[in-house]
Amino acid sequence: MTIRTLDSLGSLDGKTVIIRCDLNVPVKDGVITDDGRIRASLPTLQALASQGAKVVIVSHLGRPEGAPEAKYSLGPVAARLSELLDEPVAFAEDTVGASAQDAAATLAGDGTFLLLENLRFNPGETSKDDAERRAFAQQLADFADVFVSDGFGVVHRKQASVYELAEMLPSAAGLLIETELGVLEKLTEKPTRPYAVVLGGSKVSDKLGVIGHLLPKVDSLLIGGGMLFTFLAAQGYQVGASLLEKDQIDTVKGYLEKAAELGVKIVLPTDVVVASKFGADAEHTVTSAETIEETPFGQSGLGLDIGPETAATFAGIIESAHTVFWNGPMGVFELAPFAEGTRSIAAALTEVDGLGVVGGGDSAAAVRALGFTDDQFGHISTGGGASLEFLEGKRLPGLDVLGWTA
Ligand code: ADP
Ligand code: MG
Repeated sequence: MTIRTLDSLGSLDGKTVIIRCDLNVPVKDGVITDDGRIRASLPTLQALASQGAKVVIVSHLGRPEGAPEAKYSLGPVAARLSELLDEPVAFAEDTVGASAQDAAATLAGDGTFLLLENLRFNPGETSKDDAERRAFAQQLADFADVFVSDGFGVVHRKQASVYELAEMLPSAAGLLIETELGVLEKLTEKPTRPYAVVLGGSKVSDKLGVIGHLLPKVDSLLIGGGMLFTFLAAQGYQVGASLLEKDQIDTVKGYLEKAAELGVKIVLPTDVVVASKFGADAEHTVTSAETIEETPFGQSGLGLDIGPETAATFAGIIESAHTVFWNGPMGVFELAPFAEGTRSIAAALTEVDGLGVVGGGDSAAAVRALGFTDDQFGHISTGGGASLEFLEGKRLPGLDVLGWTA
């Protein structure tokens, strides 16, 4: 594998570098609940500063739709970043407007940092229109001499700060992207078998798409989280008020057939935790995956976690595999009654004799929230969707633009 790395940029002394990080951390009421992605960004930021560069940092947070929204401000991130770097981090209250321009123009001497406000407050960042993305990227490019791409979690997106910006300036991958690629390559090039992939989480339609491509590469695919209900529905079971992608049921039926042809095991839950409503104080009960609507909550029952029997089955498969990639919490781990499935799977992953990788913003946050430490896993990837697309063997635009060859 090759990709342009920092050394390809030559001396950065006195230059202004614009760097795309993925600082998309969970924030609740203005408080960052997991700073893993900020920590993962530090090595490159420190490397740039130590070379005497002025560093303009850009990122997105959450999914605002092209306009400012206070709850998606990167303000709290600037403060945390400053603590972790132990350096001042100036913060601009817009992306490319007056505040950003003033801050960039007055960026003090060498090795100083400026964080611009959430890129997705500007419609140009994620626009489907190439010209709009280019126009926004050009405004970002005007701040700097060179571009460093280090937001691994977004390299599967053709967005202004990921793709077009890299075309406009001399550009290279940062240290986080290098590290991530090094680990993911081990998963794609002759993974030690058995190789299991565990999928969960709530971005169901995004993730269902990867299954078709993953099937030929793995020995078993374990399905939990929000997507399990579309699989159960594909088998003809009722799923109450649980998360369900009705229009994907036929696709899922196709996956089940394809898996059977390939001799790959798709392992589905046999029991689930069903709740009366979405909340930590909900009544809840464990039921067979076939009888979700037969609890006291009837058709309004919500499946919010895999059950204990399923967790034990999944843990057994994970512990006997030699390569495991896990993306997506098994249940609504943020609410204590629905965290056990995720906890069991995380515990099993720490026992893998081989390489066990956790990927995804919420999955990484989940293992830390449940008390696991980073060093208990082979690797915690900052990218969920990006990692999955990499494992599928797809070309990722944000890497292609950095001269990536497999
Ligand atoms: P990641 O960020 O790791 O890629 P996702 O963003 O796809 O994962 O999904 C994370 C979210 O999935 C969590 O907030 C969790 O509460 C939610 N989730 C997991 N299981 C369920 C379920 N059964 N119903 C609803 N939401 C779920
Ligand atoms: Mg997520």
